[in-house]
Amino acid sequence: MKDRIAEIQNRIAAAAEQAGRSPDDIRLVAVSKTKPVASVQKALTGGLNLFGENYIQEAREKVDALSGSGAQWHFIGHLQSNKAKYAVKLFDLIHSVDSPKLARELNKQAAKIDKVQPVLVQVNISAEATKSGTSSEETVDLVTAISDLPNLSLQGLMTMPPFFDDPDRARPYFQELRQLRDHIRSLTIPGVAMHELSMGMTGDFEAAIAEGATLVRIGTAIFGERS
Ligand SMILES: *Cc1c(COP(=O)(O)O)cnc(C)c1O
Repeated sequence: MKDRIAEIQNRIAAAAEQAGRSPDDIRLVAVSKTKPVASVQKALTGGLNLFGENYIQEAREKVDALSGSGAQWHFIGHLQSNKAKYAVKLFDLIHSVDSPKLARELNKQAAKIDKVQPVLVQVNISAEATKSGTSSEETVDLVTAISDLPNLSLQGLMTMPPFFDDPDRARPYFQELRQLRDHIRSLTIPGVAMHELSMGMTGDFEAAIAEGATLVRIGTAIFGERS
């Protein structure tokens, strides 16, 4: 595990350098979904402290087991409104807000626990029917709706391009997300920060860093294949 972590950190640093960016501007989200607490513990020992989870129930068990460890948790999966109350309790950042309805429910549940919940809007750049996320066209409307919700703090955008064997083919989707982010920034909507771009996984994170990723979500390269 230690060797794998070092290798990924070196690749992130090299990709940043090649893009003329500081490696400090890129955070590694270690995607621990389906992996046991013991694996997360090893990753913590290996120097990682930020973990991504896709399922609420599974995440609750890990967050509980590792409370006091200093681990931070991000939610990166599809979130149903009826799980919003758990999500605001567990996660430092929710990457996957994709509808006004979910945003309103997260706002309501965050208010109940006196929290301002940091969130990203997930954009379905490729418009694949099987992927969640708001359409590129609807993104500005969703961002504007979120900016009116006092207990949500919008930090940026997230996307998941189609899978390609050749990561260069994913790059135009990453570029589009960055351009959409820059466009939204230019609108200077009050309360909207837009500094984060969550994009890039095991197979394509270097291409995502070349296009401006600030959060890369890497599972397989750290924890091994999922069964
Ligand atoms: C599982 C998952 C990842 C990690 O994928 P790897 O290919 O294992 O790095 C990243 N992002 C999301 C949204 C995921 O569901």
